[in-house]
Amino acid sequence: MAATPHRIVIENCAIATVDAHDTEYASGHIVVTGNRIESLGPGPAPRDLPDVARRVDGGGHLATPGLVNTHHHFYQWLTRGLAQNAGLFDWLVALYPTWARIDEPMVHEAARASLAMMARGGVTTAMDHHYVFPRGCGDLLGAEIRAARELGVRFHAARGSMDLGTSDGGLPPDFAVEPTEDALAATEEAIDTHHDPSPDAMLRIAVAPCSPFSVSTRLLREAAALARRKGVRLHTHGSETREEEHFCKERFGMGPTDYFESTDWLGDDVWMAHCVHMNDADIAAFARTGTGVAHCPSSNARLAAGTAPVPALLRAGVPVGLGVDGTASNESGELHTELRNTLLVHRLAGGEKAMDVRRALRLGTHGGARVLGRAGETGSLEPGKLADLVLWKLDGLGHSTIADPVAALVLGPPAPVTLSLVDGRPVVEHGRLLTADEDDIARRARDQSRRLARIAAG
Ligand code: ZN
Repeated sequence: MAATPHRIVIENCAIATVDAHDTEYASGHIVVTGNRIESLGPGPAPRDLPDVARRVDGGGHLATPGLVNTHHHFYQWLTRGLAQNAGLFDWLVALYPTWARIDEPMVHEAARASLAMMARGGVTTAMDHHYVFPRGCGDLLGAEIRAARELGVRFHAARGSMDLGTSDGGLPPDFAVEPTEDALAATEEAIDTHHDPSPDAMLRIAVAPCSPFSVSTRLLREAAALARRKGVRLHTHGSETREEEHFCKERFGMGPTDYFESTDWLGDDVWMAHCVHMNDADIAAFARTGTGVAHCPSSNARLAAGTAPVPALLRAGVPVGLGVDGTASNESGELHTELRNTLLVHRLAGGEKAMDVRRALRLGTHGGARVLGRAGETGSLEPGKLADLVLWKLDGLGHSTIADPVAALVLGPPAPVTLSLVDGRPVVEHGRLLTADEDDIARRARDQSRRLARIAAG
């Protein structure tokens, strides 16, 4: 006989469900059984529930769905704070030679640090886009997957690639790119080895050539065909800067969105990072095809790329989630601060009605789940969904005088995480990771960062 799964009961907290009706409870309860949300609602949980392993008093807290990150480059944890005053292309050219020296131990520690930083700040589903695979570097994707398993975070690993070096007219140096065939074969192998299509998957693989200026047209087309043959999602960078737009117009005679459409890269199984420089026709093409966007406001500001037209994308019905982006262009490495940054940049660009706190929370939760193809399973608090949720402490110094808990979370300072559940399992309690030692991660990441700097300096 199968054992009855133990229940976790959370009660006496405010709840923002981020369901289709934005249902909220000023004081409510959530019952978790195994890896699923069994029930939730206003007031205390029923007293007569059997098999309650743990009862959490959420007084002074807000419960939300766990945050979903939709764009990142974990390895960049080792190269933060460099090329501080450069735009995208100069920043890339400055960093490629160092990035081309990464290896498996470096990427493992960078992944642990990136994941720890996000998990501690309420991320329950992480994503990484890894596209630098130096010859003889070891199993970099495997190192990231190992780190996500160790930390207990739900993980979408995008096997990236670059095959267009400077001698073929691309931006990256030739020594930083892979042969096209090798990139495709390794991507297929990653899917076959790791991809889990099941509804409660802790690990999924996506196909992710890096960008129009670092990838050949052939690799883009064949990657799209591979992803569709295997039934996995597609991810890339798109329309990030004016320079990229000029590159596409000069080389292909069209802007990035038209180029993506011509290579089978628009569709409801595709999401793209940035999408800053989009005209009305580009936005309409994304809406028509269901192509999603990973909005990365801090990285776009750090690299002076511009402000993505997120209010217009949302009005058109385009799926939009939030992304940290790599920590070489967003040193904070946190997603919860992106809720606030999103609201601020869109108010600056589009006025006081351009973004509000509830839409910002939706982007960071349900919106992210939607672009990763997981909206049926996570991204909102509803009976039957996966138990990926966060209990934010809002009765402390930083938040206790803000009556609206969602405003406190989005507009206030980063709120401490009292409890974070991923797949029903506690990953963070009282602001500390349960699954790893933060000081150990910090020390090891620093050692690998110094090792990389030493090797890169020759
Ligand atoms: Zn990126």
